Amino acid sequence: MSYETNPKNRCPRCSHGAEHASGAAPPNTGDIAICAYCSAVLVYTKGLRIREMTETEYRELTPEVLAEIGRATFVAAKFRRMRAMFSRN
Ligand SMILES: [Zn+2]
Repeated sequence: MSYETNPKNRCPRCSHGAEHASGAAPPNTGDIAICAYCSAVLVYTKGLRIREMTETEYRELTPEVLAEIGRATFVAAKFRRMRAMFSRN
């Protein structure tokens, strides 16, 4: 499913628009997201704004969450390959 987040959202790393989220449920404050364009690890804040996860926060993640981030990063890379493939034509 795709969900609206905050229309002002831009990835803090690559500056790409990030006003939509994909997932099993709508995002909430504190949820983690992966930028589909650069794979930055992001955190939703109040008003569904986004910021980059800190190194300290990253070190405190559980193995299960790290595995989920790995899967999401793989999907983001696949998205970028497909996008590049179709933009050549
Ligand atoms: Zn990005």
